[in-house]
Amino acid sequence: MERFEERRRLIENLKRLGYIRSKKVEDAMMSIRREDFVPQGLREYAYHDTPLEIGHGQTISAPHMVALMCEELELERGLKVLEVGAGSGYHSAVISRIIGEEGMVYSIERIPDLVEFARRNLERAGIRNVEVVEGDGSMGLPEHAPYDRILVTCSAPDIPDPLVEQLKDGGIILIPVGRTFSVLVKGLKRGNKVVRKEICGCAFVPLIGKYGF
Ligand code: SAM
Repeated sequence: MERFEERRRLIENLKRLGYIRSKKVEDAMMSIRREDFVPQGLREYAYHDTPLEIGHGQTISAPHMVALMCEELELERGLKVLEVGAGSGYHSAVISRIIGEEGMVYSIERIPDLVEFARRNLERAGIRNVEVVEGDGSMGLPEHAPYDRILVTCSAPDIPDPLVEQLKDGGIILIPVGRTFSVLVKGLKRGNKVVRKEICGCAFVPLIGKYGF
C-alpha cells in the first residue's frame, strides 16, 4: 500500500519545525519509502518521527535527524559521500537522491546481517548509486577516498584521524561526538585542520572499532 499521505504529513511537520530547509532534501525524503527500510513488524510506525529497532541493538535514525544531517552536509549533485554506519540503508538512500546518479555514496557497516539488510532494502528501492561495504568504518574506506562529504551515524569519542585524512580539502564531516549524550559536530576541512562547529545535542548508538569505543 502506498503511504504517500503519511509521508507528506511527516515531511510537512519536519519543514514546520525547521529540520527540512531546502526543496532538495524535501524532494529526496518524499521519494524514499521509509517503510521499505524498516523490519516487517514495525512498518506501521515508519512515519513516526522516531528511531526504530533494526536488530542487533541498532536503529534506523529518526527522520528529523536524517533531514537535519542532510541539510548540514550541504549536499550537491555529483558529490562522493562516505557514510559510516549503513544500518538499514535509509539515510544513504535519501542522500543518493540528492547527489543524483552522477554522485556516489559508499556506506560502511560492521554488522554482516545489517550489510545484507541495507543491500536488500536499497536494491528493492531501485537505488544504484550506493555501495554498502562491510568493515570497520572508524578507519574510513581508503580505497575510494578522498570524499567530498563524510557522515558518521554512530557516536564517536572524537573525529577519527583516518576520516580527516580521507576528506577532501574544503569537505564537510558530520559526526556525533560523546558517549551517552553526544553533540553533533560539523567539521570543515581547511588544509590539514578541521574547523569545528557544534550543531545540536543528539543520542546515537556508539561507534565500535579501532577509533571508536
Ligand atoms: N544510517 C542508518 C540508517 O539509515 O538506518 C542508521 C545507522 S545506526 C544509528 C548506526 C550504525 O552504525 C549501526 O548499524 C552500527 O552497526 C554501525 N556501526 C557502529 N560502529 C561501526 C563501525 N566502526 N563501522 C561501521 N559501522 C558501524
